[in-house]
Amino acid sequence: MASIKEQLFSEVAESEPSSVNKVTVVGIGQVGMACAFSILTQNVSSELALIDVAVDKLQGELMDLQHGSAFIKNAKIHADTDFSVSAGSRLCIITAGARQRPGESRLDLVQRNTDIFKGIIPKLVEYSPNTILLVVSNPVDILTYVAWKLSGLPKNRVIGSGTNLDSSRLRFLMSQRLNIAPTSCHGWIIGEHGDSSVPVWSGVNVAGVRLRELNPQVGTAADPEKWNELHTEVVNSAYEVIKLKGYTSWAIGLSVAALTSSILRNTNNVHAVSTLVNGEHGIKEPVYLSLPCVLNANGVSHIVKQILTEAETEQLQKSAALMHQVQQGLKW
Ligand code: NAD
Repeated sequence: MASIKEQLFSEVAESEPSSVNKVTVVGIGQVGMACAFSILTQNVSSELALIDVAVDKLQGELMDLQHGSAFIKNAKIHADTDFSVSAGSRLCIITAGARQRPGESRLDLVQRNTDIFKGIIPKLVEYSPNTILLVVSNPVDILTYVAWKLSGLPKNRVIGSGTNLDSSRLRFLMSQRLNIAPTSCHGWIIGEHGDSSVPVWSGVNVAGVRLRELNPQVGTAADPEKWNELHTEVVNSAYEVIKLKGYTSWAIGLSVAALTSSILRNTNNVHAVSTLVNGEHGIKEPVYLSLPCVLNANGVSHIVKQILTEAETEQLQKSAALMHQVQQGLKW
């Protein structure tokens, strides 16, 4: 007797079409899975490939996600240790690597994760030569530079998740102080995703009203309202969350899903992401740092030329010098 499948269908086309918005996530730890979950539940991609070195965890996470398929829009999900599973990806998100230990800075991680990238980046590009790489592993700015060098891809297609998360943390803290929605609080953190990040206080505003016009000292040490504490809190927030729960995951997952959406849906949204700086704000060294970037299907299409104060430019240049110094010490 013919099988149920044979009785149910008459075949019109044999091959499975490949998705136009396939995403690969390399590294399925806390961050990778939060990225995968946010992307799936927001229906940003219809095909997701997971890659890790941990075979059982891969299988377990794959099954667990697939069992929820009836509640999302029927995305295809694959998982393997072999990079061939990533073939044809529009976007590859790299979260693999060691994470910060309590009290450890992001920069301390650099060589450990550089060595891991040597085994990952060339394989991703081999299977998806037209892909965009989105680096999340820390220290994200340095590792995005490493990924750019290892990949041979044009700079617009190698991006770091950068200070998109830091900016979101600032907007959340602003929203707490002002009791309005974070989406109505406008502020940008640029530079390093880490201790030397730069809050652009000169532009922080609500409905176009710049806080600096209401209080010229805002964000400075002389500010009686101490708004600069918000930036200190942003810088310390990863350390604080790691101390409390061991890792950070949900916020970075949501941040990455927003970047993924802008790229796959070709939206031209502006995000603070890590990009190769090329003379902007007087930075001469070839370093990856976050600046507001237009994201679309080409990756970073434009960098927004923010009007910074002298002090902000100086801080950014210091951040760049620090990145350059760490880059110089990398062992390839
Ligand atoms: P985790 O330890 O939970 O997961 C890391 C995963 O990487 C593990 O599953 C491990 O098996 C895998 N891995 C290690 N080597 C690999 C390789 N060669 N190939 C494939 N997979 C490999 O760590 P986590 O908490 O998920 O953090 C991951 C990274 O993300 C860390 O570097 C962390 O600092 C960084 N992070 C970045 C941000 C950001 O804003 N950019 C935020 C949070 C965490």
